[in-house]
Amino acid sequence: MSEFDLIRRYFADIGPVRPDAALGVGDDCALLEIPPGQALAVSIDTLVSGVHFFPDCDPERLGHKSLAVGLSDLAAMGAEPAWSTLALTLPAVDEDWLRSFSRGFARLSAAHGVRLVGGDTTRGPLSVSVQVHGLVPPGGAIRRSGARPGDRVFVSGTLGDAGLALRQILDGADVDEALRGRLECPEPRVRLGRGLRGLATAMIDLSDGLAADLGHVLQASGVGAELELARLPLSPMVADVVQRAGDWSLPLSSGDDYELCFCAAEADAARVEAIAQAAGCQVTAIGTLSKVSGLRCRLPSGDLLETGMTGYDHFSAG
Ligand code: ADP
Ligand code: MG
Repeated sequence: MSEFDLIRRYFADIGPVRPDAALGVGDDCALLEIPPGQALAVSIDTLVSGVHFFPDCDPERLGHKSLAVGLSDLAAMGAEPAWSTLALTLPAVDEDWLRSFSRGFARLSAAHGVRLVGGDTTRGPLSVSVQVHGLVPPGGAIRRSGARPGDRVFVSGTLGDAGLALRQILDGADVDEALRGRLECPEPRVRLGRGLRGLATAMIDLSDGLAADLGHVLQASGVGAELELARLPLSPMVADVVQRAGDWSLPLSSGDDYELCFCAAEADAARVEAIAQAAGCQVTAIGTLSKVSGLRCRLPSGDLLETGMTGYDHFSAG
């Protein structure tokens, strides 16, 4: 099969036809019409075989995840997803693999109204780069830098599930299927993110672990935080690990949660809860911001956890 047949067969018609994509797959460039006054929110992520996913992972789930991580970035800005582009590097043409991959990518595209408008296809070690493009009204984007002392810190969903799945896989243990789904099929919190426009003072999506990612918000906003670890939303399986080993690393520093962490004024807590309910998503208040810089984590005992825990960094030593 030629490169062009492959593109036509698997990637020419993904996601809903949108009138604002005047030209999509098939020409040298896509032509996109940004509504006047709106800002374009853009983000790109690359998933490399053997680094971000196991070479033999389910291609349908990989298709889903490769778009989901980008949609999670749009969610974290409060942006409305619109278009995507896809750069695929494949070791060989495997039609079963391509069919499954494009099915997973297409299903999530349809769920969020995102049209795939172009890309690039090359031969080489398996990797997937997806760029996402979203729209956000003037002043609507939620940055990392707007948090204020006194704000509450919130997270969506539960923390550490993907990290526990990864741990089970690496240990060669039986992997719980619900946890595996959290690792391989994250659900980007797009509705929640959009709903928090004008309400959240700062927001980030959790890809590298709560401690590291919240740390970015604290630094950008020039504030510090105290978290009450007893309040962290944990699935029963993660709670069990934390309780038995007294080890908080799963919820604090394992990656791939793809939940949202955001700050909002204490007085807006009820509005936050209403928006979370409308978005069909659990949200939990886990701590408070202060002027004192740094992240402090209070254990259920009342003592402070000795941290130094950071998230995943591809370029860190060791
Ligand atoms: P060019 O050589 O002009 O850069 P390509 O031959 O790379 O164009 O791609 C031809 C068309 O197919 C372009 O519109 C491009 O955006 C699209 N395309 C290529 N690969 C993909 C892909 N994996 N997914 C979606 N569109 C793709
Ligand atoms: Mg060209």
